[in-house]
Amino acid sequence: MQTSSLLAAVDREVGPVDGDHNEDPLRQLLQVVNQSDNAFIVGGPDTCITYANAGFTSMFGHTLEEVLGRTVSACLAGPHTDMQAVERIKHQLRQSGGGRADILLYTKTGRPLWVSVVANPLFDAGGQFSGMVGVLTDITQTKMHEVLQYKLLHAMAEELPLTQLMDLVCREVEHIAPEVVASILAVDVQGQLQPLAGPSLPSGFSKAIAGLPIGPDVGSCGTAAWRGEPVTVTDIATDPLWTPFKDLILPHGLVACWSSPIKAHDGRVLGTFAFYYRTLRGPDALHQRLIDVSLHLCALAMEREESRAHIHHLAFYDALTSLPNRKMLRTKAERAVVESQRAQAPLALLFVNIDRFKYVNEEQGHGAGDALLSEIANRLSQEVRGRDLVGRQAGDEFVAVLSECSTEQAAVAAERLLAAIAAPVTLPSGATVHPNASVGVAMFPEDGQDFDTLLRQADLAMHQAKHDGRGCLRFFNDAMNRRTLERLLLEAALREALRLGQLRLHYQPQVSGPAGSVLYGVEALARWEHPQLGAVSPAQFIPLAEECGLIDELTRWALGEACRQMADWRARGVAVPRVAVNVSARNFQNSSLPGLVAELLRQHGLHPQDLTLEMTESVAMDTTKCVSATIDAVQSLGVYLSLDDFGTGYSSLGYLHRLPIHELKLDKSFVQDLADNAAAQALTNTVLRIGDGLDLTVVAEGVETKMQADFLTARGCPVLQGYLYARPLPADGLEQWLASRHVHREA
Ligand code: C2E
Ligand code: MG
Ligand code: MG
Repeated sequence: MQTSSLLAAVDREVGPVDGDHNEDPLRQLLQVVNQSDNAFIVGGPDTCITYANAGFTSMFGHTLEEVLGRTVSACLAGPHTDMQAVERIKHQLRQSGGGRADILLYTKTGRPLWVSVVANPLFDAGGQFSGMVGVLTDITQTKMHEVLQYKLLHAMAEELPLTQLMDLVCREVEHIAPEVVASILAVDVQGQLQPLAGPSLPSGFSKAIAGLPIGPDVGSCGTAAWRGEPVTVTDIATDPLWTPFKDLILPHGLVACWSSPIKAHDGRVLGTFAFYYRTLRGPDALHQRLIDVSLHLCALAMEREESRAHIHHLAFYDALTSLPNRKMLRTKAERAVVESQRAQAPLALLFVNIDRFKYVNEEQGHGAGDALLSEIANRLSQEVRGRDLVGRQAGDEFVAVLSECSTEQAAVAAERLLAAIAAPVTLPSGATVHPNASVGVAMFPEDGQDFDTLLRQADLAMHQAKHDGRGCLRFFNDAMNRRTLERLLLEAALREALRLGQLRLHYQPQVSGPAGSVLYGVEALARWEHPQLGAVSPAQFIPLAEECGLIDELTRWALGEACRQMADWRARGVAVPRVAVNVSARNFQNSSLPGLVAELLRQHGLHPQDLTLEMTESVAMDTTKCVSATIDAVQSLGVYLSLDDFGTGYSSLGYLHRLPIHELKLDKSFVQDLADNAAAQALTNTVLRIGDGLDLTVVAEGVETKMQADFLTARGCPVLQGYLYARPLPADGLEQWLASRHVHREA
């Protein structure tokens, strides 16, 4: 019957089929048509169906008898069929030789199917339109994949924001299944629902559920997210899950809701995808397939967003404190400066540096240091106003940018920050520390017009605060700037000098015995002759090296050079009993000092007694573990320790007997006042008695006159050093001095 119908159609087109010769291919063609999964239909000039194949019946459920004589649209169109597309095809059939479109059609039982329709016209011998042949392919599966996947991946490649991507998914889903109102919610880190997209959902509803915590009975979505599995509510009005929320949605005509969790590849629930319905129902097979595809794509987009946010956080926020890092700080601060410029409002930049942070780190461990930094970061964030900015500049340095802030307000704010920082902090170890900070403030616009300048000036002011005793606040001023500029230039020059080996050691004799006839030793003193600046005094460049972190390098050099020179003198029989090298307080904080000394002695074949290290009282007073250990380690090498500038530092003598020292150097300020100052004389006597009592050699520095020498010798001062005998001399100068004086080597 079907075959004869088709034959009739073919007859009309190509004329009667004559003979066996032509019959075979035609039968084969019919066989193909009848066995195809695609639906084939043939219609007459009125487009009423005259033939449909078996594929049509299996696709739509209608038998041929049921559709014969009816139009395609009468048989297959349903509530959401795009009738305009249908009309367009009909029109194209007559006008332009055929048409095609993807249309939503319905099966006999009302199940929606996405169908690709290709229709071609048939013409009679006279060229008149006589009917059509249509091929209908079920693209429900491929359509979803194609449309959703292609469009979403394309949009992702275009870097559209997540809300737009999710909006697109909702719209596509609603296009494919027009009976559905789609909604996508995210579940945030607090476990709260956050609407991402719901283009057809009443906006008031989305607003009302924003921030709702997920839970075991929070509508369809909150519950689905909570359970990690789909929740079907076929009647919102009666389902207990919806009791508190139903009045938000029922007035909008949405009466059922099916929600599925969107899960990350590790199983975490990232959000939910819900289908709302206008009729009491649950999902059908199409919806199920739609959601399968969509969940996958949504998870992809949301996970990508998550990792993007993560990368953003890693790139722009400090991992330890979660404050904006240097890069982010700069971006935000630059924006704040521009804003202030526009608003012609003042702005303050505060540079905060934790005092003695290094000690916490070194003595309590890095864990303690980290805990302290996080706590201080917290306090800083809490202290500033919402529109202000706090970031971590580096290590123990923080920067706060206060918008619309006058100088007076900046002072108040900085004091508040200082007070907040100063509250005791209990470390994870249980130990309590009392932190302090130094704060430098620079004001826009007076101190700088841009972020970089302001930061530099605030940094200078912070250093001034450190210099003035720490734990305080300093505003930037111009003199500060000038001083620092000079210092910076000198610092660069010193760095260069160390690199190029432009420093020299001079040696000043220390004598003993009658009329200073015996050489006790020499003190090595650094000299720097700068090509442009001329001779720079150690009183200037040593403190600079200490401040800018070059002192370790300088001391390494001085020790190495002094040892080399001693070895050279030994090799050439120049009778120098020992060399004293000045070592800064900072060097004793570096635990590698004893190792360095031991290595140099070994390298140059020297005995420990050939070397004396001069340190100041501040080192002796430093009771930190690291410094005490370094002093002990140096002493146990057998190297002598000498206390330089004795009498000028801390007056507590209690520490003297605890220290493993061999020598006291009476400061030259006492020696110089000996002639007419009774106090200087008394102090000198005392120092000599202390030396005697503790069995320490006293070396008097800065002996310039015979009267001073006589005074000291008369009171039993064993060793004298000063211009009276010799100025600090280059090595060869010292050798000549030795030769000319015939000074004896110490017995
Ligand atoms: P210091 O260790 O107390 O060195 C003694 C200072 O007194 C030297 O000053 C020396 O030249 C000077 N002096 C020696 N005899 C007389 C005298 O009779 N009258 C007067 N008025 N002064 C005399 P200099 O060389 O300028 O060094 C100053 C300070 O710089 C030194 O004081 C020392 O603390 C430091 N210094 C020098 N070289 C080094 C070094 O290589 N490393 C370290 N860390 N510090 C160094
Ligand atoms: Mg010295
Ligand atoms: Mg001295």
